Amino acid sequence: MNALKPPVQKNEYYDVAFEDMTHDGAGVAKINGYPIFVSNALPDEKAKIKIIKVNKGYAIGRLIELQKESDYRVDAPCPIYKQCGGCQLQHLTYEGQLLAKRKQVQGVMERIGKLQGVPVHPVLGMAEPWRYRNKAQVPIGEREGGLVAGFYQQRSHEIIDMKECMIQQETNDTVVQTVRAICEKYGVRAYDEKKHKGTLRHVMSRYGLVTNETMVVLITRTEELPNKKKIVEEIVAALPGVKSIVQNVNQKKTNVIFGDKTTVLWGEEYIYDYIGDIKFAISARSFYQVNPEQTKVLYDTALNYAELTGEETVMDAYCGIGTITLFLAQKAKKVYGVEIVPEAIDDARRNAELNEIDNAEFEVGEAEVVIPNWYKQGIKADVIVVDPPRKGCDEALLNTIIDMKPKKVVYVSCNPATLARDLRVLEDGGYKTVEIQPVDMFPHTAHCEAVAKLELKM
Ligand code: SAH
Repeated sequence: MNALKPPVQKNEYYDVAFEDMTHDGAGVAKINGYPIFVSNALPDEKAKIKIIKVNKGYAIGRLIELQKESDYRVDAPCPIYKQCGGCQLQHLTYEGQLLAKRKQVQGVMERIGKLQGVPVHPVLGMAEPWRYRNKAQVPIGEREGGLVAGFYQQRSHEIIDMKECMIQQETNDTVVQTVRAICEKYGVRAYDEKKHKGTLRHVMSRYGLVTNETMVVLITRTEELPNKKKIVEEIVAALPGVKSIVQNVNQKKTNVIFGDKTTVLWGEEYIYDYIGDIKFAISARSFYQVNPEQTKVLYDTALNYAELTGEETVMDAYCGIGTITLFLAQKAKKVYGVEIVPEAIDDARRNAELNEIDNAEFEVGEAEVVIPNWYKQGIKADVIVVDPPRKGCDEALLNTIIDMKPKKVVYVSCNPATLARDLRVLEDGGYKTVEIQPVDMFPHTAHCEAVAKLELKM
């Protein structure tokens, strides 16, 4: 490959063959080793493309004409798939998606992790990979005097009307459309982001899959909401599963959905849901996994890999609201969870109490600071579980793990590339990666989760 001059030119056409897929679902073709990324192209396809952007290390192309189709290509079932951009892989069969995700994990393990021969198991997918999301947050706009609830068209701020979303629980679609219609009837105006006027910004619906409880959140620019009382009464009458109606006020000119002030308009502050045997209280602002069915699969995998006997001290880094921590607590002597968001730790403590789990302790802070402190205080883990955000673990945390030498590390990752990078560090520090199990938490999107099991080398 010529490092100085890319082998393609902007606005020129090329015939290429796709061999791979990027982490965000675009096809990868190569000319003399130089990669070209093309949306909507699949591995094993051939196509005519037009180059729209040339960078030093790669180019972006647009698909002009498919010359050979993948056996795994399908017509995307969702009518607004291309405009929405929320899903990236609907043009690939579900079987093809699972194969591509496994290949992605295998690829980074070799390329980035320099790990040869680590078993990467077939991805655990869903039997019914639609209608899985338990949370919808839908922006509200206006069209011909009425309200529309939809999504921002890709690369624009125009709201496109969406009657249903195929990866969303039906209940959430019903809630959003019902609330939209009721607000329209009572003359509520949608928030206009250009003028920073109007009232209703977003409608959010959260649904407890096991409990059937629903929460409605109205996110408004002003505290005042015309006909608030009547709107609430009608929502309650129209949607029997609703246990909680909440208003959140966001007065700022911002893309951030939530503002600081949250008040309960009707019913409870929390709804509840279960993952396995553990009950979780979910408020308007709580983080909670959006695909509870697959979350159970992910946590069961992590718990299996931890191989607890009941005698262990366990640390759970990046613990969020304590979901994995409480799962582990049932099988361990003592579990310590650490998380940077204080509200999440409040939820974690509440959830421990709710489940009468008294061997879990939580601390707010950075995992890379708190865990070295625990270690200095003489707390030593037999097993460490980490579940970091996309950027992976901080190096200080990895070094503390290497010093502390827990006999097992279970790494839950939402980004295979940083997982591979961190596994390399742990391997160099005395650990062996035994196996990796990818789990499909977000069918039809390019997201890929995986759990790795590591053991201290003797
Ligand atoms: N284990 C949880 C959440 C994982 S998401 C679950 O399964 O539900 C990753 C979490 O890491 C987020 O809650 C985020 O707030 C937290 N986080 C990000 N950086 C952190 C840091 N440096 N130290 C501790 N927690 C951090």
